[in-house]
Amino acid sequence: MGQIHELNDILADQIAAGEVIERPASIVKELVENSLDAQSQRVDIIVENAGLDSIRVIDDGQGIAADDVELAFKRHATSKISSRHDLFRVQTMGFRGEALPSIASVADVELTTAVAGATAGRLVHLRGGELVANQPAPARRGTDVRVTELFFNTPARLKYLKSPHTELARITDIINRLALANPQVAFSFTHNGKELFRSAGNGNLQQVIATIYGIQAGRKMLAIQGTDNDFAVTGFVSLPELTRASRQYITIMINHRYVRNYALTKAIIQGYESKLMVGRYPVAVLNIELDPVLVDVNVHPAKREVRLSKEDQLAKLIAQTIRQRIARENLIPDVDADR
Ligand code: ADP
Ligand code: MG
Repeated sequence: MGQIHELNDILADQIAAGEVIERPASIVKELVENSLDAQSQRVDIIVENAGLDSIRVIDDGQGIAADDVELAFKRHATSKISSRHDLFRVQTMGFRGEALPSIASVADVELTTAVAGATAGRLVHLRGGELVANQPAPARRGTDVRVTELFFNTPARLKYLKSPHTELARITDIINRLALANPQVAFSFTHNGKELFRSAGNGNLQQVIATIYGIQAGRKMLAIQGTDNDFAVTGFVSLPELTRASRQYITIMINHRYVRNYALTKAIIQGYESKLMVGRYPVAVLNIELDPVLVDVNVHPAKREVRLSKEDQLAKLIAQTIRQRIARENLIPDVDADR
């Protein structure tokens, strides 16, 4: 008699959740990315006790058809790609079909959704991967997901979480980056009943920067623009006089996806040449547009890291664009000097 057997779905989902859902901030990221993929104009994030008690994301996006709602919670079920061809050209934030089943396997989840023009919406409720309810709901267009009792059935995970203070900082960080990547979307973030962040959703990136990093910082940003045959770089970088003590204030987006990339971060810093003091870093928000075939986003389950073809070429373009912009700024007489 053989020893090998297939794992049941719930166990398999919990294993996948280990990679995708590390902490409350991962849930916020996955839910908001789903809202963005659904073309939402408005995303409201409501969190209690740093996500340990409740995380709720409400959007006004496309919604999920009643017949699809249960399927959305099955692993590798997605509306976003259907072939290998799509995988190499993916434009959406999601495509692995893992977030909802992973979240549902380690928490209690209620999702209410309705598509445009539907006479009724749908509510599904899952707990620890098991379906509790699937029933009609009011036809409010968009999707409302509520996650409670995170990690109730995986005590080791729960123990591994840091203090609410740290978990909240991580949630705030991811919401900031998502808002910077999507200035055309109106975000709000409420924690324990207090609104911590709101963006207008009017497409003005500099305004989002000012909301997050302060009005002074917002004023000291330079708009940059640089292109070559493969890449278009736009965004804002701070004047050399405005610096911070860590690289945390640098946000890089590849086709509107926030990513961490050491080589590109270094390129931004190199653009300042010797104008930064040791241990000081600029504030920067860079959007890089490129043909999706030049980037592999399927490297990391949470897609924080991506693999780029022609990374050296892009790094050169970034450093050069910033260097030239700062040099140009220094040529303009400082009319604001006595203000
Ligand atoms: P993925 O995003 O990789 O497709 P998910 O598990 O995050 O996988 O979501 C599964 C599917 O559920 C999505 O492909 C999408 O069709 C649907 N979905 C999830 N959240 C939303 C939402 N907020 N609005 C509309 N559809 C959604
Ligand atoms: Mg998703």
